[in-house]
Amino acid sequence: IDFIQALSLPGNQEKEEEEQLTEKQKKKLNIEETKKSLPIYPFKQDLIDAIREHQVLIIEGETGSGKTTQIPQYLYEAGFCDDKMKIGCTQPRRVAAMSVSARVAEEMGVKLGCEVGYAIRFEDCTSERTVIKYMTDGTLHREFLSEPDLASYSVMIIDEAHERTLHTDILFGLVKDIVRFRSDLKLLISSATLDAQKFSEFFDDAPVFRIPGRRFPVDIYYTKAPEADYIDACVVSILQIHATQPLGDVLVFLTGQEEIETCNEILQDRVRRLGSKIKELIILPVYSNLPTDMQTKIFLPTPPNARKVVLATNIAETSLTIDNIIYVIDPGFCKQNNFNSRTGMESLTVVPISKASANQRAGRAGRVAAGKCFRLYTAWAYKHELEDNTVPEIQRINLGNAVLMLKALGINDLIHFDFLDPPPHETLVLALEQLYALGALNHHGDLTKLGRRMAEFPLDPMMGKMLLASEKYKCVEEIVTIASMLSVNGAIFYRPKDKIIHADTARKNFFLPGGDHLVLLNIYNQWAEADFSTQWCYENFIQHRSMKRSRDVREQLIGLVQRVEMELVSNPTETVNIRKAITAGYFYHIAKLSKSGNYKTAKHNQTVMIHPNSCLFEELPRWVLYHELVFTTKEFMRQVTEIESKWLLEVAPHYYKPREIEDSTNKKMPKTMGKSRAELGEH
Ligand code: ADP
Ligand code: MG
Repeated sequence: IDFIQALSLPGNQEKEEEEQLTEKQKKKLNIEETKKSLPIYPFKQDLIDAIREHQVLIIEGETGSGKTTQIPQYLYEAGFCDDKMKIGCTQPRRVAAMSVSARVAEEMGVKLGCEVGYAIRFEDCTSERTVIKYMTDGTLHREFLSEPDLASYSVMIIDEAHERTLHTDILFGLVKDIVRFRSDLKLLISSATLDAQKFSEFFDDAPVFRIPGRRFPVDIYYTKAPEADYIDACVVSILQIHATQPLGDVLVFLTGQEEIETCNEILQDRVRRLGSKIKELIILPVYSNLPTDMQTKIFLPTPPNARKVVLATNIAETSLTIDNIIYVIDPGFCKQNNFNSRTGMESLTVVPISKASANQRAGRAGRVAAGKCFRLYTAWAYKHELEDNTVPEIQRINLGNAVLMLKALGINDLIHFDFLDPPPHETLVLALEQLYALGALNHHGDLTKLGRRMAEFPLDPMMGKMLLASEKYKCVEEIVTIASMLSVNGAIFYRPKDKIIHADTARKNFFLPGGDHLVLLNIYNQWAEADFSTQWCYENFIQHRSMKRSRDVREQLIGLVQRVEMELVSNPTETVNIRKAITAGYFYHIAKLSKSGNYKTAKHNQTVMIHPNSCLFEELPRWVLYHELVFTTKEFMRQVTEIESKWLLEVAPHYYKPREIEDSTNKKMPKTMGKSRAELGEH
């Protein structure tokens, strides 16, 4: 690949000689020395004094300066917590909460889950003794339900505030309210970028504490021409760096697990073929579903004469800092959830990143020495095609879940809720309408009994409704299993490149008439019958890790089902009822096969297609329900189930009118009308 060097990102440190760097790498710092070497360390006392003096403090500092790992420890040492009160710290991402708490436990010499712990959805790794608790922002949002004044916390840190996730944005409004009547609660808002002024204004002009970052200059390179296949371009660039550049680790930004695995496979393969012609290349993936032991591997020092390549999602942009990165490869994309309030459709899409993101990514190369960032796009594209900043989540995703939670907290007037940036009015209205259609709100917009029960579950409103409806349809156990399989946000099937045919055959062996939800149920049940065996997963090309996670989620959901006093009824032979219960939650996600052989969404007539991995891909039933939409080459429905249109009148009479669901025959279309995988550009 031809790269052209453009401007450099200026640093505030002198360029270092390469020799000095390798010296530095060789010198293994122990934990105490490492802590003292962080940019935040010289400000320890000033910071503690500032926190003593002010109730609310905004903290701004370059990523990697030690905000997340050090501040809670400083506060702990300074006596900000006791037997009853702990220090909380929110993270937008699960991996960050887990990884950072593990690091802090190690630094403090305690076992994770004791004094230092973490809580994420479906997993609570804390105990009575926990004084420093890391959690996702979504988890803290839920905690408000049981502890509306955060009584068990003496300090709350809203960390990585610049990420502006939906939950973080809503937390801003909630904590701002709480500090008014809990004068003993300290609130810290910590951010990596220049939003500090905005946060300060929002929190009634709270003072800003700046930690000067340490950053070496980073040279930026662009490609001469656009790259058609950025995964391939990544592989080529990695090898190019490895062959021509001095040692130093490489960080590559990809959009998700699948891409990372593909890139990993191709790269491993090329490296194997090059054999001993090149120095050792250690390839390590990082994404949110990676098991913990694999996650910690990325932090191990690189052995001499080898180079580490970390293939990461956005997680490494600001939440996780990997030391000794000298080279960054940035294809310029990330995966984003986007919601179209006109069509009510939400879908996961790979989109170009913003200029702010691109600069954060580049900055990762300049933490320990002068670095280089290779952008796999042209300088023209950077200038003309990238937005300046990423739009905050609250302004671009479905608010159903957030609105349900706020209603459950007794916050009724959402229009006047104290938002840092308010969501678009029509998105709020749509969320209210959706909750009304689901039966969670009544005519006046107040929470119903059903809505209150829905809010008990850490699930999206639609999934919550499906679960609660399963009681009526006498299939609670089955729906709990399906919900836990759907909640595993990692792949269930394993599809290695060299065994695609075997893997696809194994996958098809699980197919059942009716749809993918029943297939998921089938997989789980068979695994359970095989005593949850690892070997069974291996033989059937199923990801054992995902299955284990779904078993954990399932246990949690069973506990919650019992808490809301639902009976664990089961009817394994009746699939109509299972599908009706699913429809009771997902009646917004309906598509109908049109005469032209395409699926159109029921209400808005948008063209969508069945994903090639679905068991219904070649069946094409008249009416289908989908779990989610994913936009790759086309707008694909993933996890698809066949339904009968008349069920819509039964489960959502106020949403569907008889005329909208005419032709309730479930006649199948001839197979030839379906498109092949190749035609769809999906392989
Ligand atoms: P900030 O929050 O300001 O971005 P952090 O507190 O996350 O900074 O990081 C401070 C330092 O701790 C970094 O040098 C990072 O590499 C190190 N660190 C964080 N997590 C781990 C871990 N799990 N293992 C080893 N080092 C880690
Ligand atoms: Mg941090």
